[in-house]
Amino acid sequence: MFFSCKPNGHRYKFEKASEFNFVCPKCSESLEYQDNTSRIVELLKEKATYKSTTKLSTEIKYID
Ligand SMILES: [Zn+2]
Repeated sequence: MFFSCKPNGHRYKFEKASEFNFVCPKCSESLEYQDNTSRIVELLKEKATYKSTTKLSTEIKYID
């Protein structure tokens, strides 16, 4: 869970965002809650793919 300013994409954890009163200290934009659950699901799916397909994981490593 984190907060970000929309125009510039600065991201802060909840603890930091609340310290700044939900205003970005870098650009003075208001910070909005970002839900990154879907991103985590994506990462888990990728992990599962690495495990089940050795060939694919080799190809991905090569790209990286
Ligand atoms: Zn900002």
